[in-house]
Amino acid sequence: MSQVRPATGIDFPLQVPVLIIGAGACGLTAALAAHDAGAEVLVLERDTSPTGSTAMSSGMIPAAGTALQAARGVVDSAERMAADIQAKAHGQNDPAFVAAICTASGPTVDWLVAQHQVALGLVEGFLYLGHSRARMHAPASRSGADLIAGLLQAARAVDIDIVTDALVTTLYADADGSVRGVEFQWPDGSQERAGCSALVLACSGFGGNADLVARYIPEIAGALYHGHSGNRGDALRWGEALGAATAQLGAYQGHGSVAAGHGILITWALMVEGGFQVNAKGERFSNEHLGYSEQAMQVLAQPGGVAWSIYDARLHAMAQDFEDYRDAVAAGAIRQAESIEALAEACGLPAANLAATLRATSGGQPDPWGRDFSAKPGLVAPFFAVKVVGALFHTQGGLRVDAQARVLRPDGAALPNLFAGGGAAAGISGEGRDGYLSGNGLLSAVVLGAKAGRAAAALTALTGPGRR
Ligand SMILES: Cc1cc2nc3c(=O)[nH]c(=O)nc-3n(C[C@H](O)[C@H](O)[C@H](O)COP(=O)(O)OP(=O)(O)OC[C@H]3O[C@@H](n4cnc5c(N)ncnc54)[C@H](O)[C@@H]3O)c2cc1C
Repeated sequence: MSQVRPATGIDFPLQVPVLIIGAGACGLTAALAAHDAGAEVLVLERDTSPTGSTAMSSGMIPAAGTALQAARGVVDSAERMAADIQAKAHGQNDPAFVAAICTASGPTVDWLVAQHQVALGLVEGFLYLGHSRARMHAPASRSGADLIAGLLQAARAVDIDIVTDALVTTLYADADGSVRGVEFQWPDGSQERAGCSALVLACSGFGGNADLVARYIPEIAGALYHGHSGNRGDALRWGEALGAATAQLGAYQGHGSVAAGHGILITWALMVEGGFQVNAKGERFSNEHLGYSEQAMQVLAQPGGVAWSIYDARLHAMAQDFEDYRDAVAAGAIRQAESIEALAEACGLPAANLAATLRATSGGQPDPWGRDFSAKPGLVAPFFAVKVVGALFHTQGGLRVDAQARVLRPDGAALPNLFAGGGAAAGISGEGRDGYLSGNGLLSAVVLGAKAGRAAAALTALTGPGRR
């Protein structure tokens, strides 16, 4: 479906300076940035109501050196943030690219909050694994749906045109790779064309395309995909057809904690703060503190491909801050019992095994999986449990871009007027399942989105009409 055709002889009844495909966090941030830089913008979105993977997320954007951090006395820096990202990614990212993203993260979040009144607050009370400072910025609900709502409200407040139900199918380009416009399809099958001076690909990754997942990330191909189904790898295919380089296609954000049968994300904060996971035998099988992304494969490898997350009332209370968790409670996904034996019975787990597993986490002896349980309080009755599966959330590889979000060719030269961010671009999560640091997804979406919007606007200022 997604293709690139020659622009010769094609007319575009509608002409816009900056065209953006996709109205997730990347596309909406790009639109706001291009608007603020003085360009007219049009966003084309395939869905009736924009949601994207962004709306399925916890809405947490990492950023260093923000006003929100300063107000809470958190001392952070782009260098510290970059070091955290590189440590998780085993140094597999380009350091200059990571540094550029981290340097821009604080100003980008400050701009969204101050200039566009996107309601974000600093997430406190726990630190995600691998974060050396409190730097997650999220809506109060910790819900990506509220993040998208805030971005949409901001875009509407400045009259940005967002056309929905518009599935972009075709790019029209010159022989030198300059994109002249796109064709999009309405739900009734009719088609329209729009011309542009610059194009931003904000239509995310390929998690919703089973063939591409099987090709590039075969290990997770059979697992639940718990991201936006409309993300079918269009940016990747268009970019490749235009001669763009790709990178890190095997990298992905998995998750080892989606409520089985409910499809609801259960926050990993439960594990960070003292909970643990067992398999159907009531036994632990991994170090939960290595990260939730790699835990997807650990859970999938257990009998039946399921695990149980075990925690207590302290952690249950903490998780109530997450809208997803409250939804899981309302859906009946959470089991509760006064003793560990009663919990085992409620979950159909061998009671003696589960009790022994609990004792092993609180007795001070070395953990066979290498986790340090001493830093958090041991679990005490009453106990809680939720049955979970491993899932693919988001692909992290894509089109190679530079620090201005310009799409690059294999020789490092930029394509003339093509930009990408978020899931459409190669990210900062290394090469595989275990390089993803919490927040890398929205960081890439928001920061590269802002950079892409600004750079696209600057290009149109040089090349043509359409300044506001
Ligand atoms: C359950 C879950 C939890 C997560 N939690 C977090 C978190 O807390 N923090 C974090 O940093 N990351 C998180 N992530 C990852 C994060 O959500 C993504 O990295 C981020 O949302 C990507 O933003 P995006 O704008 O690139 O893509 P999206 O938000 O997916 O937006 C892409 C848009 O493009 C549209 N589109 C696609 N193709 C076309 C086309 N051909 N024509 C027109 N429109 C098209 C789609 O419909 C969609 O609206 C999570 C992901 C999931 C699934």
